[in-house]
Formats: sequence, structure tokens, C-alpha cells
Amino acid sequence: MREYAKRYAGRLLLRDEIELPDYQLQALIKRGYFKLKPALIKRYFTHQCQRCGNKARHLFGVISCSNCQTAHLYCRKCIQMGRVMSCSPLYYWVGPDPDWSATDKRFAWKGELTKTQSQASDRVCHAIANGVNELLIHAVCGSGKTEIVFAGVAQVLNMNKRVCLATPRADVVRELLPRFQSAFPTTSIVGLYGGSGANQKTAQLTLSTTHQLLRYDNAFDLMIIDEMDAFPYHADPSLPYATKKAIKPGATTLYLTATPRQDMINQSKTPTVFVPERYHQFPLPVPKSVLLLKCPDVTWPKVFWKWYEQRPIKRQVLVFIATINRTQCLLPLIQSRYPQARIEAVHAKDPERITKVDLFRAKQLDVLLTTTILERGVTFPAIDVVVLDAGHPVFDQAALVQIAGRAGRSKVDPTGEVLFFHDGQTIAIREAIRSIKKMNKKAKIGKE
Ligand SMILES: [Zn+2]
Ligand SMILES: [Zn+2]
Repeated sequence: MREYAKRYAGRLLLRDEIELPDYQLQALIKRGYFKLKPALIKRYFTHQCQRCGNKARHLFGVISCSNCQTAHLYCRKCIQMGRVMSCSPLYYWVGPDPDWSATDKRFAWKGELTKTQSQASDRVCHAIANGVNELLIHAVCGSGKTEIVFAGVAQVLNMNKRVCLATPRADVVRELLPRFQSAFPTTSIVGLYGGSGANQKTAQLTLSTTHQLLRYDNAFDLMIIDEMDAFPYHADPSLPYATKKAIKPGATTLYLTATPRQDMINQSKTPTVFVPERYHQFPLPVPKSVLLLKCPDVTWPKVFWKWYEQRPIKRQVLVFIATINRTQCLLPLIQSRYPQARIEAVHAKDPERITKVDLFRAKQLDVLLTTTILERGVTFPAIDVVVLDAGHPVFDQAALVQIAGRAGRSKVDPTGEVLFFHDGQTIAIREAIRSIKKMNKKAKIGKE
């Protein structure tokens, strides 16, 4: 029974996600270990999918079902994770709680927190110990927010309880997984994201895209939502729905972000911990705004060449470009100008995306052109950052702050240059630069 509890507790399952023959599943239901609930319930003028919360009428389809010989509704919204139909219930475990205590929980992180980090870490532990429901950690890019939550995670794991770190971005899951594995080497850990191949696996510590949380229900005692302001968390109501559903009553939810949305700060009464300082205690690089007469779409501005060639320190360069199309036009131009340099481009649809990012991280590339997919969650040690056409609408204030936050993350080279090329300063550019300066000021005041 212990194995079943580990495998099924806290999940909301379709029949074919339970790898048990019918007679065994029926026996477990009879003994009261599994319960069933309808997958689609009727609302006034529509239905609601109990897995993803979808209520939009156009996102329900009709299918002729071979089981019941009639046509009925299914949810199109969460179809990628298997079809939720009106005739097929969702299963959830109500048997004994899983026992995660078998292994000795070693917390092996050997780093040291700065004073600011350890104050924040204490607030996290205190919130967990006192059953505080929500805590917002507003921590600048490069402040080491993952390390700030480690002690709190260890605390919950030691209580034989479950922890989930959820983020809208699969890249962030991939980046964080090895770091958690080395900090908690004896804890069972799973990383869930589309294409991970592990999405039916369970563990005491789950790192997941918010999307994969649709499969969970009443599972976690500590939920950490990383980069909550990142697309598509707010654009898609099923993601906040999924995270709410995945936590247990009385759980603590920590929101980690470098760029909280204004509405979150204004209207929320959520207690906030502010971490204005980077872990290496150097200020955030302040972007230089470079005004051009006209920002060319598919050619490089001359001032870029000039800057690239005359830099006193030849760091790797990450160039942010507004659209996939433009990256494809600009790549051959820069490659042919610098035939000796190793230059590549990535975007969301690039099948070699992960390899190229790894190459850049390993310093095997000199320049990487990218769309906003690398705006956050990825760490490269010492780079300069350029945004071409920073006035383009894809670069909102949060994106620009995150992008600038990619530079100067290394202790040995903490400065890095950030350049915003544009042909007229937008509100986003101005506010991004202003908020970075404000953080630096706060960090300095904190030290005095
Ligand atoms: Zn659904
Ligand atoms: Zn049916």
C-alpha cells in the first residue's frame, strides 16, 4: 500500500493514468482508498472541467464515445494531457498518506547566505512554521532566490511533507533540477514539464511547470511559485487554478519574483520580503539607453558594430531580438561580418534550443541571438547584454528588467554592460531603468 500511496496520493487521475488492472482498482475503491469524481460538472450556462477549471463554452467539444455509444462533451482545453470526458470520472487517492521518511534527509548545500539572504530565509522558515498562507519574495535578478528558499524546503521535507516548486517556464525547471538534486541528494525529486518523459512519476519534492500541476489535487504542504509574473501564468486562468488546487488546506505558498506585476503589489495584502541586493553584493548593471534615428528591423545598427569591436572587455554577448523572423535575418549578417566568431541564434521553435544554450553557458559560443525565451531563469556567468529595438512591444517593463538582470551575475566579473537600442524611449524602457536604479539605491541604504 505504501507504494500506491507514493504513486497516487495528491494526484487527479484519468483511468489510464493508473497502471492497475480493473479488478485491482475496483478492490482499492471498495476498501475506500480511491475515490471518484465527475470530470465535467454542469454550471448555469456552461460546464466546468474539474481538472483545468475551463468554463469557456467554445473550449468544450463533442465526441462520439465508443464506451457509451453516444456523443458527449469533452474538454479541449487540457486535451494534451489526455481526454477528460463527461462519462469518465477522475480518480484520487484517499488511502494512507505516503511515507517519505524512509530515506535520511540530507541537506547538502554548502554555500553561505549573505546577511540579506539569511534574513529573507529566516522569514520564509518563520512563515512555514507559523502556517502563514502566502508570502511574496521580491528579490532582484541574481539575488540567489533559490538559495533563499532552501532552508524552508529542508524544514518541510524533514516533517515528512511534500514540496512543489512550480514555474511557468520549462527552461526554469530544467535549470533548477540539478541544483535541487545536489542540495537534497537523498530526497526523491522529480522534474515535470512537457516532454520530460517523467510526467507520471511522483516524488516528495516536485519541480514542475505550472501546466503539469493540472494533474495534482490536494498534494503539497509547501508551494513555491517561481517567476509567477512570467507568461503564461497570468494569461491563462487554468494555471492559477491548477496551483490553488494542487496545495493542501493550510499550506504555505511562496511567490518568488524579481518583477512583480504592479497589480500584485498594489492590491495584495500579501506580506512581502524584499531582497534588493545581489548575492555578490555588487549593484545591478544599469542599462544604457542608446537612441537611434531609426531602429532597423533586419539590419544591424552601425553603433552596434562599433560597440562590439571597441569593448575593453570581450565578454560573451547575448542579443535580444523582438521576433523569430528578425533573428533569422540578422544571424547570417553578423556571422559573415565576424567569420572567426562563434555565433548562433535560438528561439522557442528551435529544436536545438537546449544544446545551443548549453554551448553558450559553456563559453563555446561568443554571441547568441535570442528572442525573449531567455529573458529569465537562465544564468550565464559573465556576459554583456544587448536589446535591439528595445521599444518593440514584446519588451515590456518586466521583460527589460529581467533581460538586464542576465548581466553581471558572476562574483569575479560582477559588472557587465547592458545596452538598449531604440528609436524613441518607451514607458517600458524608462520604467525599467528607473526601477533598476531604485533597487540599487535600496540595496545601498540597506548596507548603511
Ligand atoms: Zn480541462
Ligand atoms: Zn462516454
